[in-house]
Amino acid sequence: MCADMDLIFLEVKPSVRPHFWLSPQGDMIGTGERSKASAFLSSHSLKTHGSPERMKMKLFNTLTQSLETFTPLDDTVRIYVCGVTPYDTTHLGHAFTYVSFDTLMRYLEYSGYKVRYVQNVTDIDDDVLRKARELGVAWDELGRRETERFLRDMDSLNVRRPAVYARATDEIQNIIEVVQTLVARGYAYVSEGCVFYSVKRDTDFGAMARAIGLEDYQSMLTIANERGNFPDDPRKKDPLDFVLWQAQAPGEPAWPSPWGPGRPGWHIECSSMVMHYLGPQIDIHGGGADLAFPHHTCEIAQSEHYTGKAPFSRFWAHTGMVYQDGEKMSKSLGNLTLVSDLLKSYSPDAIRIVLQNHHYRHPWECFEEDLKVATDTAELFQQVRALVGNETSGQDSMLHNRFKVAMDDDLDTPEALRLLREAAEKAVKNHDLAVGAEVLRLTQVLGLFGKK
Ligand code: ZN
Repeated sequence: MCADMDLIFLEVKPSVRPHFWLSPQGDMIGTGERSKASAFLSSHSLKTHGSPERMKMKLFNTLTQSLETFTPLDDTVRIYVCGVTPYDTTHLGHAFTYVSFDTLMRYLEYSGYKVRYVQNVTDIDDDVLRKARELGVAWDELGRRETERFLRDMDSLNVRRPAVYARATDEIQNIIEVVQTLVARGYAYVSEGCVFYSVKRDTDFGAMARAIGLEDYQSMLTIANERGNFPDDPRKKDPLDFVLWQAQAPGEPAWPSPWGPGRPGWHIECSSMVMHYLGPQIDIHGGGADLAFPHHTCEIAQSEHYTGKAPFSRFWAHTGMVYQDGEKMSKSLGNLTLVSDLLKSYSPDAIRIVLQNHHYRHPWECFEEDLKVATDTAELFQQVRALVGNETSGQDSMLHNRFKVAMDDDLDTPEALRLLREAAEKAVKNHDLAVGAEVLRLTQVLGLFGKK
């Protein structure tokens, strides 16, 4: 069985288990237009259950470390999820993050909201350049190829693409404008063709870091150094300062800027894209748990001092790490389960179910037995589909309400699936078309039955 490795992981101060909270991961999905299936679901839910059902949903906010009632700024929920760095193929950890946010968006739409979803792809980055050199291919060709593979994998899992899938290399001018403003306001400084953000100048810096248990400067620096920070860079005033604009290194691609040729840092890319495509304040910012620090901590600092508005994001939602052989699944460790490999043996629905059988905030490890159980569940839902056929008008208000209670409780998909399995067994056993029709509708809210 799948082991929920530490069920309170994201709810406890990470000082209890800092290496869990803070290990690396992070990547995402996307598409803009609502699918026909989703349009059907929304219209059907309106017809069946009355006016758009504004949820009383609770979501866990990493920044406040508490469950809060979800209330968007207006009728359109603005969501940004940090995307992939395209230099390797999609593993189960990526899939967990993007399926989790796909499920959240489907549920928000089912509950009557419009959703505008933006995701980035970091197509210029140290890792992309290194991998391109190893493979002997052009960095931009590698980025295009790996981005396409990622999107294909996500399409296979019925993960809808964002409204905007923004590439870092298309965002350079906007990024430069944000960096210029931060320099002008004294939060950033120029040094030998680079621009760095000054953490000591920013007395607000680190609220997210403190929320996850990094209480002081030294603990922040230790984790930042594990995650790509170069503390000994002589161009920096302080080891924790982070790069906004990186001067061109020999042989690397570069774009012109007021500080000389170079390329943007990673953190500023996301801040710029959020503000460009969604505005100065958004409702939900998501990503893998390891992105809370330093990436999201830096995003908050840059964005709020650029716009003068806080909070940058109303909610910060982070997905738990996925483990394999007791270690976090990551490119750097090489212990990857690739989605494309799983799809050779298991159906897309079985893979989605195995992911949704774990709460989005919990770290977990997946075993083969889990995939077999999920395959059985997918087959059970197929039996319901065969039973119901075209008789899809039936309802089960009790099941519908219990499903909503589960999903409103911080997107409790494991409980929602348990309810649907139980109802599906009854529907098949009793040839109950009404219950079966409700089961079918709700499985589609979870994004199942996307692929025939
Ligand atoms: Zn990001």
